[in-house]
Amino acid sequence: MVANKASSIEVKKINRNVIYKFLYKHDPISIQEIAYTLNMSLPTVTQNIKELQERDLVIETGLFESTGGRKAKAIAYNSLAKYAVGLDVTRDHIGIVLIDLSGKVIKNERKQYPFVNSREYFEGIGNLVKHFIEDCKIDKSKILGVGIALPAILSADRQTVSYATVIDFKGGSVKSFSEFIPYPCALSNDANAAGLAEMWVDGNIENMAYLSLNDSVGGAIIIGKNIYPGENQRGGEFGHMTIVPNGRTCYCGQKGCVDAYCSAKILSASSNGSIAEFFRLLKLNREPHKALWEEYLTHLIVTINNLRMLYDCNVILGGYVGAYLDEYIDDIRELVARRNTFEVDGTYLHVCKYKLEATAVGAALQHVENFINNV
Ligand SMILES: [Zn+2]
Repeated sequence: MVANKASSIEVKKINRNVIYKFLYKHDPISIQEIAYTLNMSLPTVTQNIKELQERDLVIETGLFESTGGRKAKAIAYNSLAKYAVGLDVTRDHIGIVLIDLSGKVIKNERKQYPFVNSREYFEGIGNLVKHFIEDCKIDKSKILGVGIALPAILSADRQTVSYATVIDFKGGSVKSFSEFIPYPCALSNDANAAGLAEMWVDGNIENMAYLSLNDSVGGAIIIGKNIYPGENQRGGEFGHMTIVPNGRTCYCGQKGCVDAYCSAKILSASSNGSIAEFFRLLKLNREPHKALWEEYLTHLIVTINNLRMLYDCNVILGGYVGAYLDEYIDDIRELVARRNTFEVDGTYLHVCKYKLEATAVGAALQHVENFINNV
């Protein structure tokens, strides 16, 4: 009897979650259609929608046109019911975003804030987060948590940092941040976070190799909508694939890594550190920018082709450089196609859709994902 009761509560919870996730992915829809599509009874759906409405997680957005009889109510999930904050911690900057449940950026800021492994730094981050949330003027109880993306490799439980050279935080812990941030905190690898954001924006993506072309090069491998972390949390560290034997020295100490050829710094070093300025000058056909770009492309093409050969799935170009590649993508596709053994075009290659703070958004999305899975 007790077991039966427990399992009926469990079934109820599963149904509610199925309905909520269905609404999350769909346009406004009537209760009748939800019941029909999910093969549930009308009373079950009605009862669950009522409960979700009481929690403000589901709203009525209007009425559907009717061909006769009573008009059906349009039901949708409430994207403003909860929010999450994301931080993009880099060596020199901090990016911060507030997103709603849909992943839309409500507010963002980026400022110079060099990473220092000190109490003062983490306290400063805590104050920054608190002020940022106050400026957003939303009910604090609606904040699911703060996601923190780091240019570092994390432990399997994502509580500590197992490898970091871009920032001095090896052996660091989420506790350094959470001591000063009064919300649940979760760490993520920066490129994995950006990859998650890209997957979120296009619900149809199943598999993807995300190449993050930032000041350091990283990446994420997504298989069946999940990040493949690898056995040591180093999956997708594309920046340290060797593309030139005995080539340029990488910051990691090895020679010939992708990072030494495809980092955003290779380009921005010619334009006072600004990638926007680099692409402006490139558009004007200025030298040395044009020559630098051509050389950069030869290595980028090899890297992209290697990813395609390895994973046989879409390759997404992201990071600071990726955000500027819309007008070059046709040329890059043609170049990768020429190198490809099996394909005559490069339609598998795409430019990232998140141009703004993808990493911080992805860090925040961890909390959204967790929330959605547990409604
Ligand atoms: Zn390297």
